[in-house]
Amino acid sequence: MQTTNTPAIKQLLQVHRTDSAHWVGDGFPVRSIFDYENLGREALSPFLLMDYAGPAEFKPAAEPRGVGEHPHRGFETVTLAYQGEVEHRDSNGGGGRIGPGDVQWMTAASGVMHEEKHSRAFTERGGVFEMIQLWVNLPAKDKMSAPGYQTLPAGRIPPVNLPDQAGQVRVVAGEYQGARGPAHTFTPINLWEISLRAGARANFDLPEGHTAAFFVRRGRVELSGSRDTAGEASLALFSREGRRVTLTAREDTALLFLGGEPIAEPVVGQGPFVMNTAGEIRQAIMDVRAGRFGRLEPAALS
Ligand code: MN
Repeated sequence: MQTTNTPAIKQLLQVHRTDSAHWVGDGFPVRSIFDYENLGREALSPFLLMDYAGPAEFKPAAEPRGVGEHPHRGFETVTLAYQGEVEHRDSNGGGGRIGPGDVQWMTAASGVMHEEKHSRAFTERGGVFEMIQLWVNLPAKDKMSAPGYQTLPAGRIPPVNLPDQAGQVRVVAGEYQGARGPAHTFTPINLWEISLRAGARANFDLPEGHTAAFFVRRGRVELSGSRDTAGEASLALFSREGRRVTLTAREDTALLFLGGEPIAEPVVGQGPFVMNTAGEIRQAIMDVRAGRFGRLEPAALS
């Protein structure tokens, strides 16, 4: 007797596209792909927000552009670099420079002050800049834990080839086909960079019950169970039920997969703080005013 064992198909919920664009500081011309206000606090949990910066050309300049000193509390900021370089420093002593293929995983938790700027070398050289920044929520029990900082250089992010030369998966966080990503996460998260060659088809079998969304950075894909396709700068959100998503690339396509166990707790946010209650937001504002987030050392940029 033969049994077939094809995992249940995940349903496409929506293909979300936004033309909402704004500047973050003077260095990051971003499209706001989603945030916990516009798509709902539950929809993409544990992911709170995603900004896609560029691709944008910057002329050579003398002073690094970016965002000056500002606070965060209650979550993590994850920056993925595609083109250009960014430098980060924070009041916890964390800091580093990331370039194409690298990822920076900054845990604000109980609070940091930090700045995010183009690197001095990129500033002087100019060129095309392209990055993604994700905000990843922390469970209530970890929101006030110590801040942390992880630089995940490209060389530590394992690549896994897809069958039939369909493309490649780079595992930033979580696990794909036995390859483990280098990121330490507080809750189960899969964050994968996926490339598919034009015409290729690939199956992804994902954890049942987890959030599952594919962001298309380049190209266009057909989505299983739907006549819709998803093109550049759109986000395909699938049901938590079921396991399998099949993607067929119409063109050479680059995607970012966002997967994770939802955090079933209230989300109350204001500006750079994301907590569980309004009282905790008021406390965060008071703590920044009282200097309890620390200070950045005076700039000593390379
Ligand atoms: Mn920031």
